[in-house]
Amino acid sequence: MRISRRTLMMGAGAGALTVLLASCTPDTPGPAPTPTPTPTPRPTGTPEPIVPGVPAPSAFLRTDWAEDPFAHGSRSVTPAGSSPVDRQTLGAPVLDRLFFAGEATSLDRPGTVTGAAESGDRVADEMIHVALDRDRVAVVGAGLAGATAAARLAEAGLDVTVFEAREHAGGRISTQEDTDWPVKPQRGAWLLNEREKALSARMALVGIGTISLNDAAARGADGATEIPEGERVTEVIRGAADGPVDLTIAQALEENGVDITEDIAAYLAWMATETGADPETASTWFPPAAPGGQVDAIVSSTSPLIDDPLGDLDVTFSTPVSGVAYDEDGVSLRLATGEALTFDRVVLTVPLGVLQANSIAFDPPLPLEKRAAMGALEMGAVESVWLRYDEPFWDADEAMWHVVGPVDGVEPDEDGTDTTIRTWINLLPATGEPILVGIVGGSAARALAAMNDDDVLDIAARSLVPFRAAQAA
Ligand SMILES: Cc1cc2nc3c(=O)[nH]c(=O)nc-3n(C[C@H](O)[C@H](O)[C@H](O)COP(=O)(O)OP(=O)(O)OC[C@H]3O[C@@H](n4cnc5c(N)ncnc54)[C@H](O)[C@@H]3O)c2cc1C
Repeated sequence: MRISRRTLMMGAGAGALTVLLASCTPDTPGPAPTPTPTPTPRPTGTPEPIVPGVPAPSAFLRTDWAEDPFAHGSRSVTPAGSSPVDRQTLGAPVLDRLFFAGEATSLDRPGTVTGAAESGDRVADEMIHVALDRDRVAVVGAGLAGATAAARLAEAGLDVTVFEAREHAGGRISTQEDTDWPVKPQRGAWLLNEREKALSARMALVGIGTISLNDAAARGADGATEIPEGERVTEVIRGAADGPVDLTIAQALEENGVDITEDIAAYLAWMATETGADPETASTWFPPAAPGGQVDAIVSSTSPLIDDPLGDLDVTFSTPVSGVAYDEDGVSLRLATGEALTFDRVVLTVPLGVLQANSIAFDPPLPLEKRAAMGALEMGAVESVWLRYDEPFWDADEAMWHVVGPVDGVEPDEDGTDTTIRTWINLLPATGEPILVGIVGGSAARALAAMNDDDVLDIAARSLVPFRAAQAA
């Protein structure tokens, strides 16, 4: 890819759209580019334990996608009351000038890496169908959807420029490259289930390493317990799927008199780590996939996945787009730098959360049905905590751990949200490295994203108490 942070010149023929852009200012100014966060250094040597038997990690990294101005969350979800029609409406072109892609517009695999790639292909097909030879095209966002679309459009002979708000490509596929960790920490997508087989194969082809997370263990304060069981939840969701009203999962459980036992609560927390959705909002008509089954984890840099399609394309980094003006003749983009450029057509691949936050002002406003679709869908939250240790302090050999029931010292927050980190990936068996990754989803993830590092570390250590050595019954 050609990396540029050029001074952009107004394109020829920008006239009418430039006037439109003059009044095209978002409610809140476009966010300034933020640097890539670096892992918080922790003292090496023999750090003080946070709780007895659980040492402080020698290195620590946490994500905060919920607070990220270029994402506002992790993956889109389908709340009760919305449907795939909203995704289709969100993805529909406007005047054959303004096109939309990104995981939130995927009908089959929303919220996933596969859905993002498919949306890039879909939008390229749509644009190639109507574009003229050598049309000047801008792609906004250099995540997987944007990279896929840009590559296809350039291949078709269009003159493509990509604008990316961050300093790097990849978006929500994001490896923390600047660390000396023996396993590259992943800030975004890194766990691929059986439905992502095609993607896993594509990753292997470009040299991205994965490991299989084969076995699981569950522990509570009293030691080993059963892996959280979702049969009752799945049964209730299946029953509600034919109901006259789209109930949330929480409503359906209540209507069916299901007690939220510790086991079911742990299962729902696990489900939220895979979807970003809380049972209080997730639809039973269009429910999230049940967690479980074979999972592969990415353990090397994901950059080939994005850099390969971007190839030699012209990518302008650290350049958020803050305004879009469009009419039958073309589209003008206002950049957060104040500059404006005109194109024949534009593909927007920014996350749903960015559209919902009104970070990009549209002139004229987007059609009502598109705004309604945006409002109907939800941006879910998933956050991870990566902990690297000098030595393992645990005695469980399984790759995935579940924490069931209350843990000492972690009380629900003032909104009643349980912030215990209940799902852990143990990288020791597959990589030989004492690294643990805690994952939370839904409101717990939003709560964690808003906390300071010390509070996150404290919750992580307390959540791990059931797994410290000699803890199993
Ligand atoms: C923590 C986490 C865990 C996940 N786990 C999984 C998983 O296990 N399996 C799975 O399949 N998927 C997972 N996902 C979802 C997956 O990462 C996304 O579905 C996918 O990467 C989205 O790609 P995209 O191109 O649609 O959006 P993005 O990758 O978000 O790309 C959009 C790009 O637009 C840029 N942008 C935003 N605003 C502007 C602006 N104003 N101007 C210019 N550029 C802008 C962004 O910086 C970004 O680079 C996870 C995501 C997260 C965050």
